[in-house]
Amino acid sequence: MSVLEIKDLRVSVETDQGTKHILKGVDLTINEGEIHAVMGPNGSGKSTLAYTIAGHPKYHVEGGSILLDGEEVLAMSVDQRARAGLFLAMQYPVEIPGVTNTNFLRTAKTAIDGEAPAIRTWGKDVKAAMEGLRMDPSFAARNVNEGFSGGEKKRNEILQLELLRPRFAVLDETDSGLDVDALKIVSEGVNRAKANTGLGILLITHYTRILRYIQPDFVHVFVDGRVAEQGGRELADRLEDEGYDRYLTEANVG
Ligand code: ADP
Ligand code: MG
Ligand code: MG
Repeated sequence: MSVLEIKDLRVSVETDQGTKHILKGVDLTINEGEIHAVMGPNGSGKSTLAYTIAGHPKYHVEGGSILLDGEEVLAMSVDQRARAGLFLAMQYPVEIPGVTNTNFLRTAKTAIDGEAPAIRTWGKDVKAAMEGLRMDPSFAARNVNEGFSGGEKKRNEILQLELLRPRFAVLDETDSGLDVDALKIVSEGVNRAKANTGLGILLITHYTRILRYIQPDFVHVFVDGRVAEQGGRELADRLEDEGYDRYLTEANVG
């Protein structure tokens, strides 16, 4: 049973105005097979949490730890984190000019697994995953995310998720900018990944809409760099009705 433990995580970035403290002591534990929704207003530090887990160099860890089955993730390089089974679907997926989707997926899969995927099954797996996400086959030969629409980029992130088969996935606003049909398709991909590999998911979202399609086991309300409240699914329903104002007033940042 795998577990990802975030303990008293404190993170800052350097800005022109000096050091900005963004995460102010985050505690969160995700077991394999669990879906945790992290919900919060804009600017509360959700993406910072995602980038810090993935190892983005801009985010300075000032304290705390992130343990994957007891191993300190913060001591690992970005590559080591991916090999250890961590995956980040970014809020704004990057374009990689000159690298086709097919080559990117094969290279990433090889790096993560430590061996090239079996030729006989890999092509079929890619094709099946693309079909599941209703991606036109032509996307295989296109450069990663180059010229993709917002929705196409989000599908492409989930394509990577399904094929790379991580143990824990951080999905940062995978729902933003999707119409209802695309939201359903992307959600089905996430649910398939969970059913096939039993991964743990940290689902970052501003809106409750995606939680109709991806059912969280736990909901964490994230305000001003901390978890302000935790609960079950019912907490998401309450946020849908009440919004974040109450938390912002309590945190004195509204
Ligand atoms: P969220 O994803 O919840 O909207 P972010 O983690 O993106 O929040 O940002 C939290 C706060 O930190 C915001 O005020 C944002 O402007 C600031 N911030 C995040 N990253 C940087 C950065 N690289 N440089 C300067 N400020 C940043
Ligand atoms: Mg934001
Ligand atoms: Mg964000």
